[in-house]
Amino acid sequence: MLTDKTALVTGAGRGIGRAIALKLAKLGAKVIVNYSGSKEKAEETVEMIRSEGGNAEALQCDVSDYKACGELAKSVIEKYGRLDILVNNAGITKDGLLMSMSEEDYDKVLDTNLKGAFNMMRHFSRTFLKQRSGRIINISSVSGVLGNAGQANYSASKAGIIGLTKSAAREMASRGICVNAVAPGFIETDMVSAMGEDIRQKLVEKIPLGRIGQAAEIAEAVAFLAGDAAAYITGQVLCVDGGMAI
Ligand code: NAP
Repeated sequence: MLTDKTALVTGAGRGIGRAIALKLAKLGAKVIVNYSGSKEKAEETVEMIRSEGGNAEALQCDVSDYKACGELAKSVIEKYGRLDILVNNAGITKDGLLMSMSEEDYDKVLDTNLKGAFNMMRHFSRTFLKQRSGRIINISSVSGVLGNAGQANYSASKAGIIGLTKSAAREMASRGICVNAVAPGFIETDMVSAMGEDIRQKLVEKIPLGRIGQAAEIAEAVAFLAGDAAAYITGQVLCVDGGMAI
């Protein structure tokens, strides 16, 4: 259980982030549901949590904005006095072949996916270090582990998340803080449902377990890493991908 814990999940209005927020709240955590543009979706997540008797609020912040992340961290600490679980989930794709990828698409993906995680970790690090406790869980991707044609920017950001996770884990271990990454495979969310049926079929053929994953299956892995059972695990990448990265 995560009773009395405070958790912040970035990009929790929809998709995997929403599933993580719902799961952590179900385990008893107070959940801050971060969003960037989807205010209604984030409020829907909050309502879903409250209707089950949980505690949640939605807070807007563009994770790629260093200053805005600092303000978010300040207001969270002022209100809750602490943060126990930080889940850096917010992410975007802007796919294309390297030879034609625009500088803007490269920067946007890196700024959101990688710098976004850095921004949040940087602004909450003092809180975690002072508390001498905390869990940081960063959402990477199978594309960051294996690479993926057409996703040079995304794969770089998700591989970067792994380096960021391992370095932070080494820096923070002496204070009892665990930092891990979860690397999802193909998960049924807006990011994947935009694909055509033929691409989808080809994709499924590459998944040893023979199916696309569900957001709730990623949430289970995050909940495990956030809980007491994972107190001796840090600096790891947990692939939840139906066997894609074997
Ligand atoms: P999604 O359905 O497209 O949702 C993306 C989430 O990120 C939204 O809640 C969005 O919030 C938020 N977001 C985007 N830019 C943001 C910003 N600048 N600041 C704050 N929030 C921002 O994606 P998903 O499939 O759930 O993916 C969630 C995470 O899992 C991502 O990091 C993704 O790379 C990773 N992942 C997904 C898959 C998959 O198959 N789906 C596989 C591997 C890894 P707003 O709507 O408010 O902008």
